[in-house]
Amino acid sequence: MKTSIILNAKNLVGWRTKRKIVVISVDDYGNVRLDSQKARDELDKAGYPVRTRFDALDSLETSEDLEMLYETLCSVKDKNGRPAVFTPFALPCNINFEEMEKSGYSEYHYELLPETYEKLAVKYPSSYRGAWKLWKEGIDNGLMVPQFHGREHLNLKIVEEKLARKDEALLTSLKNRSFTSVAADEYSTISETAAFDFWEFEENDRFTDVIKEGLNAFEEVFGYRSDHFNPPGGREHPVIHTVLKECGIKYIDTPLIKDEHQGRGKFKKVFNYTGKKNNLGQIYIVRNVVFEPIHDRGVNWVDYTMRQIEAAFRWNRPAVISSHRVNFCGHIVPKNREKGIEALYELLQAIVKKWPETEFLSANELGDTIAGRTS
Ligand SMILES: [Zn+2]
Repeated sequence: MKTSIILNAKNLVGWRTKRKIVVISVDDYGNVRLDSQKARDELDKAGYPVRTRFDALDSLETSEDLEMLYETLCSVKDKNGRPAVFTPFALPCNINFEEMEKSGYSEYHYELLPETYEKLAVKYPSSYRGAWKLWKEGIDNGLMVPQFHGREHLNLKIVEEKLARKDEALLTSLKNRSFTSVAADEYSTISETAAFDFWEFEENDRFTDVIKEGLNAFEEVFGYRSDHFNPPGGREHPVIHTVLKECGIKYIDTPLIKDEHQGRGKFKKVFNYTGKKNNLGQIYIVRNVVFEPIHDRGVNWVDYTMRQIEAAFRWNRPAVISSHRVNFCGHIVPKNREKGIEALYELLQAIVKKWPETEFLSANELGDTIAGRTS
């Protein structure tokens, strides 16, 4: 009863359509989090334990991850003969671990994603050889439509302050070519992985350059400009929407109820819905379906996700599925990927069986549809 109220509550307000639109938005692609099982072991040994499934399993997508994903997406066709499509909210940049080591871990350096893949193809050829080529094929074939998840998936203020005081946890992580098991307890409002979290409101000023550089890097890496943004770790202040708009962002993912930080720990609750416009004309998209198949929450994920999609369609809403890369990656634990991919396969089959009129769209295509930019 309670879950059914929640399922419906997410769909009470918003843009309406009779079409059976299914969007799959998946965060964190392109991000290096945990380098390898060896890195995990070293971090455990040093006393920096796993706190979340991300600390244990989340690593840059491998050739096999992408191959299995593409095969699964292609296992179904929608009413227009189109396979399922992922919208990976992706990072074009990662920590340049070698440059940081050279600087004696005194300053932050980043690199572009193809460079990261080049290095990893040498270090772990069985996982990463050919992976970047596969990424580009996925984009060319329309299976992957990456959009902007920030320049890098970390909070610069936290990283710089930890570097300045030679924080043991951060240095141990960096030496293991990872950014995980690094707890930020300095500020109640900042998570170490949330790039646009802040304490003082003025810290937002700096994000202008990060966003400009990030969106240019995105274009260089993925081959086109992004027009859809989901902040890494969420919780950005709308003051940064202006520069996002100037740089081409038309659509912004946001939670249904957002605790919007105003500075120094003061929060304001904001209610959002898909189709809501901000004062700059950007359109908000609220994900109304959760699919995290490797996260044990005591549910059958395929059934639960189908019920959520059903609730969306009942209210004439598009189904915007929210997921994370960690569900589909197998570099650390291949069985993890098997479990996630199997659930995805079953879910996709169930969707097209139940609604043969399904249309798979990328998140930005949904944005275009809402904005009336496409029919
Ligand atoms: Zn993320």
